[in-house]
Amino acid sequence: MTAHPDSPASRLHPPASRVGVGYDSHRFAPPGPLVLGGVPIPSDFHLEGHSDGDAVAHAITDAILGAASAGDIGELFSDRDAANKGRDSIEMLRAAVVRVAERGWHVQQVDVAIIAEQPRVVPYRELMRARLSDALGVRVEDVSVKGKTNEGMGWIGRGEGIACIAVATIVSTT
Ligand SMILES: [Zn+2]
Repeated sequence: MTAHPDSPASRLHPPASRVGVGYDSHRFAPPGPLVLGGVPIPSDFHLEGHSDGDAVAHAITDAILGAASAGDIGELFSDRDAANKGRDSIEMLRAAVVRVAERGWHVQQVDVAIIAEQPRVVPYRELMRARLSDALGVRVEDVSVKGKTNEGMGWIGRGEGIACIAVATIVSTT
């Protein structure tokens, strides 16, 4: 039975799809390698953080959690919890996918921008898309990864760290 468009039940019914945004940044520190989008990249630096510092995975995790109004990565994986030290961020992303699924959503599509002067993203992009799509349970073509520099400006321009912005669409499974 379909609820009348003006009924309270209709107004309460969740929309068929939602969008979420995630942002993350990490500082570079020696030694390498660094991990981005679940892919180890040869470098003299890694990304500092309690986990493996994978800013791509973290931004996507927050985007899908945000889309489902299901909290954020800091709530799911506290940096005060020793169990999260050096943690594989792809594993954290998988846990977020499960949390979102429990609330009746599945991920449809993800787009992420990596903003850094180094490393160059293009040589690793297809590997990242493969790892991320596997973790998200979507097709490779549903994951977009783009690299941008900050044109030498500010802390990113000075090579101090990396920033990532991700947008995710989730669709209702009910
Ligand atoms: Zn992070």
